[in-house]
Amino acid sequence: MKIICIGRNYAEHIKELNNETPEEPLIFMKPDSALVRNNDPFVYPAHSKDVHFEVEIVVKINQPGKFVAPEFADRYYDEIGLGVDFTARDVQAKLKAKGLPWELAKGFNGSAVISNFLPKTDFADVQNINFSLAQNGELKQSGNTSMMITSINAMICYVSQYFSLKIGDLLYTGTPAGVGAVAIGDYLEGYIEDRKMFRFFVK
Ligand code: ZN
Repeated sequence: MKIICIGRNYAEHIKELNNETPEEPLIFMKPDSALVRNNDPFVYPAHSKDVHFEVEIVVKINQPGKFVAPEFADRYYDEIGLGVDFTARDVQAKLKAKGLPWELAKGFNGSAVISNFLPKTDFADVQNINFSLAQNGELKQSGNTSMMITSINAMICYVSQYFSLKIGDLLYTGTPAGVGAVAIGDYLEGYIEDRKMFRFFVK
């Protein structure tokens, strides 16, 4: 499986990092070795001193697809989870300044935390889901999928032009405002609506 992510998909998050709004979706990938499941701890990586959390709605692809047409995109996933796209912001800043790829900032071990999944049928409208992240019990990020610039279906259409989708692939759909640094000893909790989706420690 592969992990496909979209950057700069919420306007308020673009502003907080002083980024430009991309003209086309900004796509990057993480290797499967980045995954952390089952509330296992996130191990702070040695190559960064400024790791940020980014809470994101994640969809799991349920059938192979290429060049998915907009009217069929909805059929390519039936489960929704919550993830954290951990980002070594200091490493990313250096790479961005040089125009270099982001893998060391985005794809390191543990950088893709994932919850269990909920059936899509639990939601009346996937583009109207509230989600949030708390750090040490304090709310830091809250968003609603209606605020995405590129919708879930549009992301499926876009990425499937370049990368054949396979069963089990995960799409990280971007983070709302409020990203921030984590420290060893922190615990992070994520919610979809009122349901706690994960709780894990940074060690
Ligand atoms: Zn992200």
